Amino acid sequence: MSFRNTLARAVTISGTALHAGVPVTMTLSPAPAGQGVIFRRSDKNAEIPARYDLVSQTRLGTVIEKDGITVGVIEHLMAAVAGAGLDDLTVSLDGPEPPILDGDALSYLVSIEKAGLKAQTLPRKAIRILREVLVSEGDAQAALHPAQNLSYDFLLEYDTPAIGRQNFHFDYSPENFRNLIAPARTFGFLKDLDALNAMNLAKGASLENTLALDETGVINKQRQRFADEFVRHKILDAIGDMALAGAPLIARFQGVKSGHGLNNRLLRALFSDPGNYELVMLP
Ligand SMILES: [Zn+2]
Repeated sequence: MSFRNTLARAVTISGTALHAGVPVTMTLSPAPAGQGVIFRRSDKNAEIPARYDLVSQTRLGTVIEKDGITVGVIEHLMAAVAGAGLDDLTVSLDGPEPPILDGDALSYLVSIEKAGLKAQTLPRKAIRILREVLVSEGDAQAALHPAQNLSYDFLLEYDTPAIGRQNFHFDYSPENFRNLIAPARTFGFLKDLDALNAMNLAKGASLENTLALDETGVINKQRQRFADEFVRHKILDAIGDMALAGAPLIARFQGVKSGHGLNNRLLRALFSDPGNYELVMLP
């Protein structure tokens, strides 16, 4: 039987919020067994559990909200948390989003590894998918299929030469996550930047934390780590969004051009019918 994990000690990370553009200091701390992941806005004296049913916005990042207080762009940190196999964690931050750091999950993972994991006394349960759950919108779709092990398939298609059509299959293990998915950076189109900034979005985006695209390709190519980094990052986002299920999944995730909105609808569809899943002890 495997047991739930928390951090062995607290670790503090500072940086810039991707959308708000403000400096943020964030501390990841050990938490009691069974707590799950809770975000604490120290500047607002508020706590928001990292749960799919508290997601209030999914435009350019996943936002959780409780009593009018939000934390945005939680998906990269949540991907690192799920990828590392962390179950119980308190995330304290003094701003509206975790710092974006390198725009990947690796920068969080390195801090988690530095702190180390500590096994709790409570057994670890997983959500095993019993039948296909599928949501779609236009030509985008997201699905969970019954499977023996957790894996992610994603098909990404962009009408721009640097991306084009990209496919990736990812068999989850902490090692595979660290090597294949965690380093994949977020990306954005330069032509959208002014409009986003006018809406108070992407104010912390930079050529350090985002692969920036124009019609000709990636502007900051020296920062690119994989040719198919874009589809890998979409899997990173999906892993972070699926982490809001509150327990590890045993399923095959399949995404076709999907994003945070569909990912959240997928979890809501999953939990809307108890016949879709069962809770099982992990070996
Ligand atoms: Zn992302």
